[in-house]
Amino acid sequence: MRQKLVVLGATGSIGQSTLSVVREHPDRFSVVALAAKGRVADFCALAAEFPQARLCLFEPDAAKEAASRLGRPVLAGMDGLLELARMPEATTVVNGLVGSIGCLPTMEAIRAGLRVCLANKETLVMAGQLINELLDANPKASLLPVDSEHSAIYQALGGRPPEEVEALILTASGGPFRTLPADEFAHITVERALKHPTWSMGPKITIDSATLFNKGLEVIEAHVLFRIPFERIEVLVHPGSHVHSLVRFCDGALMAQLGTPDMRLPILYSLVAPDRASLSGPRLDLASIGTLHFEAPDLDRFPSLALAYDAGKQGGIAPAVLNAANEVAVGAFLDRRISFLDIPAIVARSVGDAPKVPRPTLEQLLEADAWARRHAQTLVENA
Ligand code: MG
Repeated sequence: MRQKLVVLGATGSIGQSTLSVVREHPDRFSVVALAAKGRVADFCALAAEFPQARLCLFEPDAAKEAASRLGRPVLAGMDGLLELARMPEATTVVNGLVGSIGCLPTMEAIRAGLRVCLANKETLVMAGQLINELLDANPKASLLPVDSEHSAIYQALGGRPPEEVEALILTASGGPFRTLPADEFAHITVERALKHPTWSMGPKITIDSATLFNKGLEVIEAHVLFRIPFERIEVLVHPGSHVHSLVRFCDGALMAQLGTPDMRLPILYSLVAPDRASLSGPRLDLASIGTLHFEAPDLDRFPSLALAYDAGKQGGIAPAVLNAANEVAVGAFLDRRISFLDIPAIVARSVGDAPKVPRPTLEQLLEADAWARRHAQTLVENA
């Protein structure tokens, strides 16, 4: 039976790679729904390619415009995303939405008992505990990582239980400023921060890679996905991005997954795991690489990583506040309203100023998200 895919975030980089995997395996996958945030022209082109797909654009004006261009109904807003996330004819939801708008659709798809291939790490950072409770209550549903590091860990784990794991080791490229002296960080421009050395991704995640905030979010993501305590999650800088992450087992054995930096592999694996399906493209040639380089992360120049560990260990609403404040700060940096160093400063202040809420409900998490956005916005204006 063909897998029937709902692709959320279809015009973004994860969505495009997903559709490229679909085109390579028309016998395995069909697309039953496409959703995106608001890029009308790109979205209409995809809609034309998949004439049977139901459609949604998050931004209502964009949805109206797309509907009139296409002559097809286009759902709008969060209600539209949720309607697609629980479609009875779907088997699989690929969530490539950017930011916390991906949270509710993930939960809806789990409730509907679907396979959820999750690239939207903000979901797990914000509401990890609730997601795990929801997964435990809906055994038909499954949650598979699309993030390359977590896919690598998932592959390296091979289904072994947490008690056999000594540590999860997330590799980090170190971003474009890995070797930049501390006193030059104040002068980092948007253009320089957007040049990632190894991966080609959207602007938000590229900035998050430059601050190492992305790795911090991934530490929390790994904690939720694999149910391993923060004390047993490590970060290792590996500039080549050949080793996508590792697991160290209780007998000292290290298992790693290596490959080219191509998101189509983790996407495909999330769709077909535990099976394997063929994928075209170049293969990693270890002989031509010759050596693999590793180093410890520098928490002084990259305070975002330590902030994420602290917020993760603190739990409650702290990770949600961390994530929302970072989204605002990164947006302000991209708009050239604050400096690169202001990003971790604003995130740290926001987490520090937030009230402590130990076991938050979804409503409290959404409130915390909204509060953090307002608070970070005020900090941006005063930066
Ligand atoms: Mg990643």
